Amino acid sequence: MYDLAILGGGPAGYTAAAKALKHGMNVVIFEGDNIGGVCLNAGCIPTKTLLYGSKIYRHSTEAAKYGVNASDVNYDYNAMLKRKERVIRRLVAGVKQQIKGATMVSGTARVANYREHVTTIVCNDEHYEARNLLIATGSVNASPKLEGITSEHVVDSTAALNMSRVPKNAVIIGGGVIGMEFAQLWSNLGSKVTIVEALPIVLANFDEDISNYISQTFSKRGVKIMTSTRVESITGQGVMTSAGEISGDTVLVCTGRRPNMTGTEILNLPLTGNGISVDSHMRTALPGVYAAGDVTGLSMLAHSAERQAAVAVNDMMCIEDEMRYNAIPAVVYCDPEIAAVGLTERQAKEILGENNYNIETLPMLFSGRFVAENDGEQGLCKVITDKHGIIIGTHMVGNPASEIIAIAVMAIGQGMTTEQLSRIILPHPTVGEILKHF
Ligand SMILES: Cc1cc2nc3c(=O)[nH]c(=O)nc-3n(C[C@H](O)[C@H](O)[C@H](O)COP(=O)(O)OP(=O)(O)OC[C@H]3O[C@@H](n4cnc5c(N)ncnc54)[C@H](O)[C@@H]3O)c2cc1C
Repeated sequence: MYDLAILGGGPAGYTAAAKALKHGMNVVIFEGDNIGGVCLNAGCIPTKTLLYGSKIYRHSTEAAKYGVNASDVNYDYNAMLKRKERVIRRLVAGVKQQIKGATMVSGTARVANYREHVTTIVCNDEHYEARNLLIATGSVNASPKLEGITSEHVVDSTAALNMSRVPKNAVIIGGGVIGMEFAQLWSNLGSKVTIVEALPIVLANFDEDISNYISQTFSKRGVKIMTSTRVESITGQGVMTSAGEISGDTVLVCTGRRPNMTGTEILNLPLTGNGISVDSHMRTALPGVYAAGDVTGLSMLAHSAERQAAVAVNDMMCIEDEMRYNAIPAVVYCDPEIAAVGLTERQAKEILGENNYNIETLPMLFSGRFVAENDGEQGLCKVITDKHGIIIGTHMVGNPASEIIAIAVMAIGQGMTTEQLSRIILPHPTVGEILKHF
């Protein structure tokens, strides 16, 4: 009998396995595809690896701004794809090392039986029993039901990452994080890109000022953004929308992902929205059965999956811990980068009421380092505080927002005021210093 059985080897699954092993638990982990899950194999890592190559290319073509003459700059997409595979292999090997000591079973598993604190799992016709079960089965692409969706020129994000060529003319359905990152990748490499978004703005979950800033930047660079536009069908030449036909040799559909409950059907677990319902300790309705990561549908990000998994294992070990969602950063790796944590202005207004919060916005140009390294860029940093001065939201656009957002994450996580944050000594010159000016 195992102490813990884990369904799924993505960030939630492998984090739980590594943590449980450290506590001396006897662990079995099932993975139907590749260890590392979507994040390492078809999500965070491959997108960022390709984006990095494409940014180097685009920045090289603009090197003259910095007094560097780089003539005849070109790129080899095949080499970028090979590098992506190397990066994935390296990281997957690292994860396997972290969970060495767990029994790793390759195959799609399913729960065959449950009685309190004893779950039976079947995989490759073998039976496994465990006192605790962690469901970490992640999520899958959710495609809209559109006429022509199965056409050859239609891809989802997974297929797009494996295309051997850069599209000449791409239509991206969905202006969320994934759509914006692919728009950045392909436009950096010379594609003509059109984003079609049904809502009035792209990146609708981000603060509106950030969304407007990046929309203007993309438009200046030639990426066409069509908001409040519905795709009605896929045509042989592209897509038919509420605003007419848009041509494209490739149509990328990234209209969201949905939790994947494969293998857990017999448990009949209650759902919240699309995901498995859990409490703040990641417990499901059944004793000894936990869920973490995208399958809960609560915060579909790799770092949330990892934290939720750690909370679940702590609960199994009777270690006091709890999942909180007020300080989870979200990043869009376009250029310039976007990063945010906490409430947006709209949320602050809805939750706290019109006169109970303050907003201050500064251009990133306030930072000397930013000016030195970001020719022609203004950037934006917006901090939202409650009426006691406690920071409740921070929104940034400007490089390297993905790194410096960590300062705001800690400030919000610790309930700090802007005054307390301003007393912390940060290195100079760094872009993160901007947070001391609020
Ligand atoms: C294109 C793209 C880019 C992304 N970029 C980012 C980013 O930059 N930052 C970020 O934080 N997040 C990003 N994400 C989201 C991130 O990948 C997910 O939030 C994260 O992978 C969730 O981890 P997980 O462990 O819950 O599930 P997953 O990573 O989905 O892993 C679940 C695993 O379970 C396996 N599995 C499922 N059912 C079974 C079964 N019955 N038996 C055995 N195995 C099973 C699957 O094969 C899969 O490997 C991105 C996603 C995509 C698609």
